[in-house]
Amino acid sequence: MRICNQCKCEMIEDFDIKVEGGAYGIRLSKGNGIFAKRLEKPKVAICPKCGEVSLYIENLDVIMENE
Ligand SMILES: [Zn+2]
Repeated sequence: MRICNQCKCEMIEDFDIKVEGGAYGIRLSKGNGIFAKRLEKPKVAICPKCGEVSLYIENLDVIMENE
């Protein structure tokens, strides 16, 4: 469960990121060029009260293994 930083209420989780004009979404990576490591696709949580948007990663274990 995620709590909004602004109003401390419970946020709605598990939204997907879509970039307007394309269906590519956003992926986090580390490093540059062809050797960049691909990390987990971020998810989005939205506060239903104030509209605060929070990005988060579901599976942190995957990132630690990539270190
Ligand atoms: Zn809020």
